[in-house]
Amino acid sequence: MTLKASDLAMVPFVSVDNMMRLVHHVGLQAFMADLAAEIALDFARWELFDKTPRIGSHSEVGVIELMPTSDGTHYGFKYVNGHPKNMKEGLQTVTAFGVLSDVDSGYPILFSEMTVLTALRTAAMSAVATKHLARPNAKTMAMIGNGAQSEFQCLAQMAVNGIDSVRLYDIDAAATEKCMANLEGSGLTLVACTSPEEAIEGADVITTATADKDMQTILTDNMVGAGVHINAIGGDCPGKTELHRDIVARSSVFVEYPPQTRIEGEIQQMDPDHPVTELWQVITGAAVGRQSNAEITLFDGVGFAIEDFSALRYVHRKIQNTPFYIDFDLIADPDDPRDLFGMVKRAG
Ligand code: NAD
Repeated sequence: MTLKASDLAMVPFVSVDNMMRLVHHVGLQAFMADLAAEIALDFARWELFDKTPRIGSHSEVGVIELMPTSDGTHYGFKYVNGHPKNMKEGLQTVTAFGVLSDVDSGYPILFSEMTVLTALRTAAMSAVATKHLARPNAKTMAMIGNGAQSEFQCLAQMAVNGIDSVRLYDIDAAATEKCMANLEGSGLTLVACTSPEEAIEGADVITTATADKDMQTILTDNMVGAGVHINAIGGDCPGKTELHRDIVARSSVFVEYPPQTRIEGEIQQMDPDHPVTELWQVITGAAVGRQSNAEITLFDGVGFAIEDFSALRYVHRKIQNTPFYIDFDLIADPDDPRDLFGMVKRAG
């Protein structure tokens, strides 16, 4: 894309309010299906991207991270936090915003909220992994952890993979009630469960999205039967995992970017050279995904910068000629590029 100087003076800003309006304008299901397709396309050109594990600043209660990447034409980054204790204080566990830039000029071309967009893209990512790794005709999913991410996870699976039944479990029954109420009328058959064992009964796919800054054991080895596909997305930080290591040992493990997942994912519990397959290679056909109906496949999802890049580019495209953004006066634009000071002086 070639941008003129006048195009670059104002940066489109997508607020939370406008993101929600955009989602309704496109349609929630269509938005997530589009995002899944966008992510799969970008994963298929994986080798083009700059890649680095995200840069985390850890405290005792959470983490603040920067997630940059570029395909040589665009550059994107996301600021995101993860604070499991926030929910009890009436705050989001995860909040985010992001920027997309034009590599040629270095100028930002989009500034966006990404709290809602992260939930959408994380759900789309799980759906992409499930599409490539679950048994064909998977219909039932167990959703463990019924917090902010959960409804998005369920709806993306319905939109992309035809999941038609969801079994919900959370240690907090109020979270399950909220999730049930939000998904009512979605077309999904919903079952509220009172234990993780009950939730995973008959499930083809298990998605865990719990939040605790600890090495948790949401699933133990004896709970997981042959042939299931697991999306473990809540273990996404050093010292924060969801699965017993024996499940990881028994599964074929698929990851986004190994240098990041080895620090943050379920595989942080394993030897540093524990075998993993990179999901992008399954998408391009360079590596094999599921090899038998009895195999347990595990998508050890931690969230990688390319997924946010895909989401930002999608939003940038979708807001063109719509009212779903405002222009942000973010970039100083003196008439004479060398006369920045003169511009400031005249403003006085
Ligand atoms: P949230 O705080 O809104 O919800 C978490 C839910 O997990 C809560 O309802 C809580 O009661 C429940 N929970 C905690 N321990 C549990 C247990 N032992 N069994 C069952 N339920 C339990 O958080 P959220 O925004 O929904 O995020 C969920 C997790 O996903 C977080 O850990 C977050 O960091 C992670 N996340 C990952 C990605 C990714 O790309 N992989 C993206 C976004 C969020």
